[in-house]
Amino acid sequence: MPAKLSPSRHLRISRSKAGLGLFARVAIKKGQFIVRYSGRKIRSEAADELDTRYLFEVNARWTIDGSNRRNRARYINHSCRPNAEAYFVKHAIKIRAIKNIKPGDEITYHYGRDYFDSFIKAVGCKCRACAKKRAEIRSQRSRRRARSARRAKRAR
Ligand SMILES: [Zn+2]
Repeated sequence: MPAKLSPSRHLRISRSKAGLGLFARVAIKKGQFIVRYSGRKIRSEAADELDTRYLFEVNARWTIDGSNRRNRARYINHSCRPNAEAYFVKHAIKIRAIKNIKPGDEITYHYGRDYFDSFIKAVGCKCRACAKKRAEIRSQRSRRRARSARRAKRAR
């Protein structure tokens, strides 16, 4: 594990379930700083006019426009059971690990209730935790169906 992560050497942009994602190339320790969400600092009211998904509100007054491709943190997908979180240092947005992350793991953080309710809920969350939950419900349903089919057979 490197003492200090270099976003270009230790992180990798790659295909994920939800489009592109950001992946660890090395082990990252819980609590370790991963990458900065970098971009132009703009007034939050001006951000409302912009047509980009890569806005990160610092507070009611300031928002970071992270749409530049050099901002690797913009590739981090949402997860309902994330392994990282965003935090603020003054007006800088940084991402750190909240679990130990293994090489090859996708880095995720929770986008927040408001974002989730306005943008993710309607289309269905693509995170691993939600996919697993859906798969469990599906297999329960098919087990139930198989059981009632067996019962129907016996009744005949
Ligand atoms: Zn989810």
